[in-house]
Amino acid sequence: MSDQKIILSIKNLEKVYRTSGEELSILKKLNMELCQGQICVVVGKSGSGKSTLLNIIGGLDKASGGTVCAGGLVVNEMSEKQLVKFRRNFLGMIFQFHYLLKDFTALENVFLPALMAGMSKKQASEKAESLLEAVGMKDRMYHLPSELSGGERQRVAVARSLVNDPELILADEPTGNLDPASAETVGNLLFSLSREYGKTLILVTHDMNLAAKGQVRYLMENGQLRELGV
Ligand code: ADP
Ligand code: MG
Repeated sequence: MSDQKIILSIKNLEKVYRTSGEELSILKKLNMELCQGQICVVVGKSGSGKSTLLNIIGGLDKASGGTVCAGGLVVNEMSEKQLVKFRRNFLGMIFQFHYLLKDFTALENVFLPALMAGMSKKQASEKAESLLEAVGMKDRMYHLPSELSGGERQRVAVARSLVNDPELILADEPTGNLDPASAETVGNLLFSLSREYGKTLILVTHDMNLAAKGQVRYLMENGQLRELGV
């Protein structure tokens, strides 16, 4: 579908880490393009650069060369202020660790980013509640993260990643710490909600069952992404 909006366009992306006189070339002229609504999975060996790629797309790490263009803006040329806005409005991020605020309830953890993205209190709480319901956590929404299981925390993290209505969701091994059953639940939720809300998703995973459900699948190898066949 050539008339689809391009959400992410990466050209000749390079990442070099310099440590004690040594140069480590992690990403080597990597190219990638994603259209709106595409569900993409990235697999690859540990240390191959998957997190580095996601962190650069999300503006958490700096590219050494090339361009990352997301939603028509060049991410690696943004000021800190622009990056904050970009992350608040354009991105949803999920990591292996949940990063929920420990002193806040599940509801507040989902509600706060919506508020920061500019929604009214009423809108934000309605949105947060409906997303917690969508991830099966409505009856736990007044619980603190410490009162939830690992899988439940990640379900809250999935709800949080969607609450600002992002264009692009970056998920870095979100099921990496979970038992197989919870991993399947969280993975399926991520896929089904992304589809339902028309979100573009990049999911990094080691879980082959989960990877098989991606629409486009890439292998990170030798600093580049290679598309895998169906
Ligand atoms: P993956 O997510 O695929 O397991 P990463 O993107 O985390 O891989 O890391 C890719 C490589 O970059 C690894 O070899 C790692 O040691 C190296 N690396 C990551 N961050 C840094 C850093 N801040 N300084 C030096 N090397 C780093
Ligand atoms: Mg990683």
